[in-house]
Amino acid sequence: MVESTRIVLASRPVGAPTPANFRIETVELPPPAEGEVVLRTLYLSLDPYMRGRMSAAESYASPVEIDEVMVAGTVAEVLESRDPSLAEGDVVLAYSGWQSHQVVPAGAVRKLDPDKAPISTALGVLGMPGFTAYSGLLKIGQPKAGETLVVAAASGPVGSAVGQIARIKGARAIGIAGGPDKVAYVRDDLGFDAAIDHRAPDFADQLRAAVPDGIDIYFENVGGAVADAVYPLLNTYARVPVCGLIANYNAADVPEGPDRLPAFYSRILTKSVTVRGFIQSEFVKEMYKDFLRDMSGWIADGSVRYREDIVEGLENAPEAFIGLLEGRNFGKLVVRVG
Ligand code: NDP
Repeated sequence: MVESTRIVLASRPVGAPTPANFRIETVELPPPAEGEVVLRTLYLSLDPYMRGRMSAAESYASPVEIDEVMVAGTVAEVLESRDPSLAEGDVVLAYSGWQSHQVVPAGAVRKLDPDKAPISTALGVLGMPGFTAYSGLLKIGQPKAGETLVVAAASGPVGSAVGQIARIKGARAIGIAGGPDKVAYVRDDLGFDAAIDHRAPDFADQLRAAVPDGIDIYFENVGGAVADAVYPLLNTYARVPVCGLIANYNAADVPEGPDRLPAFYSRILTKSVTVRGFIQSEFVKEMYKDFLRDMSGWIADGSVRYREDIVEGLENAPEAFIGLLEGRNFGKLVVRVG
């Protein structure tokens, strides 16, 4: 009999989540049926989209129900297999949630090769966030040599890959991040052409000075005050892949201040701007193979670098997730569970 320690949604947050929205519990798992495997979680991915799953509001995916386990991508070890495709000890990429163990169909996991890359990267630069950057930028952003790209959350797994891939394609990359340490990392370690702190009082002026030729691609990761500063700088035929709006995820109400929509639409019209939202899963069939090939090559030759923020212990996942929405993470946030 295998026991699983798991974190469930105890209540839906109003505004920012608190530890009281989560509950930790231990359950006994059923034995695996034919075609199933028992998994032990090694790493658990924490991602901004989980805030949406905690809410009952309409979205592109169903919410987590109260008392259900929080959803998440995981890297796990096979403890027991009742399927010929997997053996005890195999390491797999799964979607088994915030829990220490789970029984899943073998067809729902993908085997990883631990000799090819550190296994945690399957949740970051070589996984969903890296693919989000790759597909959204190349498919919608379409960077060209000499163009200027701006991306926020630039030290995180999506933004860091967006800027580095843009540079590989010959564009200038301007990163926006919160605080001096992240700004220095984006500029000095990741090699962005410039990096700006969105918390600086003169942020909008610094951004304008950093893009003397305007902005051709704004990879939208955050919305909020960053987007307000970017829109007046968009060039004719600029592209805006709308990937995430994390500045709004905890909002319980519409933002204060004047209605920005008329100015926003006016810029789109007068500059012939393309604004296109996307969810990365849309491009998986078409682009995932190319992504794995290209990204592995770029990591190997040093043209893409990445950083992980590893938190120890499943019980610390709620606090780490709350911190992610406030920018307390520095790099791809993962929890080491086992
Ligand atoms: P990160 O690890 O970069 O973490 C989120 C970061 O957002 C924080 O560290 C913080 O960085 C920044 N942030 C938070 N609030 C604000 C704010 N008000 N203004 C500016 N920055 C803020 O996250 P990911 O790389 O995993 O995700 C980046 C974005 O991509 C998110 O919006 C996410 O929802 C989206 N996404 C979309 C997908 C899709 O398919 N469309 C798939 C995956 C991710 P800092 O301290 O630098 O401000």
